[in-house]
Amino acid sequence: MKYNFTIQRTTAPKQKPNPDTLRFGKQFTDHMFMMDWSTEKGWHDGRIIPYGPIALDPAASVLHYSQQMFEGLKAYKTEDGRILLFRPDMNAKRTNSTNERMCIPQMPEDLFVEAVKAVVDVDRDWIPEKFGTSLYIRPFIFADEAFLGVHAAHHYKFCIILSPVGPYYESSDGGLTANSIFVEQHYVRAVPGGTGFAKVGGNYAGSLKAQEKAAEKGCEQVLWLDSIEHDYVEEIGTSNAFFVIDGEIITAPLAGTILPGITRNSVLALLRKWGMNVSERRLKISDVLKAGEEGRLQEVFATGTAAVISPVGRLVFEDKSFTIGNGGVGELANKLYSTLYGIQTGKVEDDMGWTVSL
Ligand SMILES: *Cc1c(COP(=O)(O)O)cnc(C)c1O
Repeated sequence: MKYNFTIQRTTAPKQKPNPDTLRFGKQFTDHMFMMDWSTEKGWHDGRIIPYGPIALDPAASVLHYSQQMFEGLKAYKTEDGRILLFRPDMNAKRTNSTNERMCIPQMPEDLFVEAVKAVVDVDRDWIPEKFGTSLYIRPFIFADEAFLGVHAAHHYKFCIILSPVGPYYESSDGGLTANSIFVEQHYVRAVPGGTGFAKVGGNYAGSLKAQEKAAEKGCEQVLWLDSIEHDYVEEIGTSNAFFVIDGEIITAPLAGTILPGITRNSVLALLRKWGMNVSERRLKISDVLKAGEEGRLQEVFATGTAAVISPVGRLVFEDKSFTIGNGGVGELANKLYSTLYGIQTGKVEDDMGWTVSL
């Protein structure tokens, strides 16, 4: 191994959670990865230490000006006991495109991947095996230099924490369930020239208001529209959105306001491999709703690491509710889920070369 991370093991290992009642992101493993960056030394002192609180100076710039970023990926245990990561090189690349936008130093891609592998290896016994469960991996970087002033910091921390997770959305059998989505016409998530393509906390803080509004309307998530015309569909909550109209599978193009999802990229690759009619193009909400009224809107689903594929059964626009298909899980969403989840867990042959063994 090129990088030599020190390992300090916990003296107080925690009890592992019951795999039957796992929810998303509530419990954390025994260890975490940490590494520092300074102007003089660059990235240095990579270490695996017991999971626990981080001491921060109250003037740490992340607490005031939010110079930070995060990533998300998963580790799965296969039936024959191997541990698989899904396309971690893509998370490493996206880290650097986010960092570039946020004036955070670049990180060698192999350093990112080796750090993920090292900490997952130490906590390998925490990877749950039950259907629909996995170990969620959360790498993040923040500016911890103590200063009050708006400029890029001279000191950062890179951390990785791990959380054994169950299904993102509650379902009785661990399988897919269809969600209701509220079409948000007032609040926006991203603007051209902004940080919509970067995985940064501020994007999510700014989305909470719309998320609460959607919950009041009985919906799980928000469908974001573009910030200029409030007309073109962009994303669903913290995932990418796909619409199937008259046999054409449509998702928004990566034009700066969309997060370039790794699940989105994988879904596009599978659909193209299957010879399906796929378009990355702008799509108006009015065309989606019209197709819905005319019975031409076949499916809507969202894609992201946390839930993999989340089918949408209903769209709520102003005070009207539009049922999609029979309101349940669509055929394509189901096929994509079983293929992707199958590859991720080693049950379906990975002819795309996406999985990486620990
Ligand atoms: C993380 C994220 C996605 C999904 O990206 P994946 O790499 O597929 O997990 C989509 N949209 C937003 C806003 C996100 O934060």
